[in-house]
Amino acid sequence: MDFLRPASWEEALAAKAEHPTAVPIAGGTDVMVEINFDHRRPEYLLDLNRVGELHEWEAGEDSVRLGASVPYAKIMEHLRAELPGLALASHTVASPQIRNRGGVGGNLGTASPAGDAHPALLAAGAEVEAESAARGARRIPIDDFYTGVKRNALAPDELIRAVHVKKADGPQQYSKVGTRNAMVIAVCAFGLALHPETRTVRTGIGSAAPTPVRARAAEEFLNAALQEGGFWDNGKVITPSVAKQFAQLCSAACNPIDDVRGTAGYRRHAVGVMARRTLTWTWESYRGARNASKGAA
Ligand SMILES: Cc1cc2nc3c(=O)[nH]c(=O)nc-3n(C[C@H](O)[C@H](O)[C@H](O)COP(=O)(O)OP(=O)(O)OC[C@H]3O[C@@H](n4cnc5c(N)ncnc54)[C@H](O)[C@@H]3O)c2cc1C
Repeated sequence: MDFLRPASWEEALAAKAEHPTAVPIAGGTDVMVEINFDHRRPEYLLDLNRVGELHEWEAGEDSVRLGASVPYAKIMEHLRAELPGLALASHTVASPQIRNRGGVGGNLGTASPAGDAHPALLAAGAEVEAESAARGARRIPIDDFYTGVKRNALAPDELIRAVHVKKADGPQQYSKVGTRNAMVIAVCAFGLALHPETRTVRTGIGSAAPTPVRARAAEEFLNAALQEGGFWDNGKVITPSVAKQFAQLCSAACNPIDDVRGTAGYRRHAVGVMARRTLTWTWESYRGARNASKGAA
């Protein structure tokens, strides 16, 4: 196995162009497990750790450009205000050691339906910045990124440079079911983001379908119910029937399997429970902020 160690982004792209089968390695928390268990024996490993810019982030007016290798620990420490959903999801990943190494670029590279970043990225709205030496850079909307079980939209000669995630304009939540509280791959997970600026909600479901998915019918239902009831303006408590219907539609968006971590039926049920809870939590916090600002006015 040859080990390629580019010192810059341009060198990394050139190496990937020359050796399209080279496997990039960032934190190595997925790649090394596969190599150690002999599930994968690549001819070339492409070490991205000398490409400093992949570890950096930049908060713009509307979005954060997150370098592909920024580890979860940094997201939790520095981007809690801008990306609360992703910061909460990062908290649930593995252990401090893994959170110091692993990052969103690796999660996207693996594209496991159980990856914790995905529901948060779907709910917030994100774009993956991918680049190849031959065709330059392109932005892939997160909705188009996941193409199958552990498959993504990257071409063989492409690398992920960064992820652009919309800054939160309202409350966000992330909820995960596992067999214990830490060091656990999701049985299923749910991300929810309220977007008061556009008066919309977005969801993300993990580990309950072949790919991470949004519950689009549930979003449409809730958007219409909040609009019709004037909820964004009057800040009223969401009625139990609306919350129930939203939860049922989120369950219906799942297409899960039975496996060692849980049954399909349990996953559908749990996603509904998490949908209802995260809706309650985010809406309460939206109402709290809204009422506080009204009181102060
Ligand atoms: C003990 C343990 C517990 C874990 N628990 C969780 C958990 O709770 N939740 C969770 O989501 N994950 C978990 N994981 C999986 C892993 O930590 C995450 O998927 C992590 O985000 C991977 O990031 P990384 O930088 O280590 O990726 P790497 O292992 O370096 O790479 C992962 C994949 O992405 C590709 N890749 C990396 N960077 C790029 C790039 N810039 N461009 C293109 N492709 C790239 C690699 O080629 C590879 O296919 C766990 C892993 C371990 C070992």
